[in-house]
Amino acid sequence: MATVEVVDTAVVAALLTRVRDEATGLAGFRAAAGRLGTHLAARAAERLPRVPVSVQTPLATTDGNRLPDIVAVPVLRAGLGLLPGVLQVFPEAAVGMIGLARNEETHVAEQYYRNVPNLEGRHLLVLEPMLATGGSASDALALLGGALSTTVLSIVATRTAVDRITSTHPEVSILTAAIDPELDENAYIVPGLGDFGDRLWGTT
Ligand code: URA
Repeated sequence: MATVEVVDTAVVAALLTRVRDEATGLAGFRAAAGRLGTHLAARAAERLPRVPVSVQTPLATTDGNRLPDIVAVPVLRAGLGLLPGVLQVFPEAAVGMIGLARNEETHVAEQYYRNVPNLEGRHLLVLEPMLATGGSASDALALLGGALSTTVLSIVATRTAVDRITSTHPEVSILTAAIDPELDENAYIVPGLGDFGDRLWGTT
């Protein structure tokens, strides 16, 4: 059963405000995006099973846990903005890449690159900061079967995107910092934050 959670902590809200602000420059945008990746991944970790382990301290044996096996898949190129922060939480994560480009006329995502490790026995985190129509995330999810669980990490989503993803992939969880009200005629989220890839990579 799909779940959608808006991660609305004070820190996430402040970081979201920073990436929305058009006055935030490249370095600030990258830093805030990375930190959002950390907070979203930490929240995702809370929803995943802990793997019990036993360790020997200098004094005794005690029970503990390690994090489960993770594959993080940033959807190129915007998803790369979340990756450094996600790896802070899951430093042992395998990383796959999917390249989807939005056709500017049809707004449909087309795959141009794919290199994803085996997902069996691992938990999948799909990094897609902007869920506008949900098209590219749904397309990416269709290419990424076989994981123990799948969580999409997003910064800004729309209700349209959430509804599309949860109906096409009911097994998926979505964690997002915000759900914004609308899309403009160019399929940009309003108020949103503009083009995430351009703001992350300085290509405006
Ligand atoms: N992708 C972006 O980068 N921004 C939007 O508002 C929508 C899709």
